[in-house]
Amino acid sequence: MPWFLCHTLLLVFFKLSYYNINMKLTLIPERCIACGLCQTYSELFDYHDNGIVRFCDDPVELQREIAETRDVLEAIKNCPTRALLKDPS
Ligand code: SF4
Repeated sequence: MPWFLCHTLLLVFFKLSYYNINMKLTLIPERCIACGLCQTYSELFDYHDNGIVRFCDDPVELQREIAETRDVLEAIKNCPTRALLKDPS
């Protein structure tokens, strides 16, 4: 393989890696069963008085761009009703 092709592939790989640092996180309150599990993984999540998930610093917002951290990924993965969705941005 020519060296310039390897170089180009590496550049593309690093560029894609850079832009995949963030993710779009969506809360779907209709699916939430108020189990309280997500907050045990990440402090990003909080709950309304009825136990339905919300962002800790904004009770209205349902979608935001955030850094892809292990704690949030674990919360998404372990939500039993898939009320937390990750969409690559
Ligand atoms: S883990 Fe899922 S179902 Fe449980 S409180 Fe969080 S968003 Fe709701």
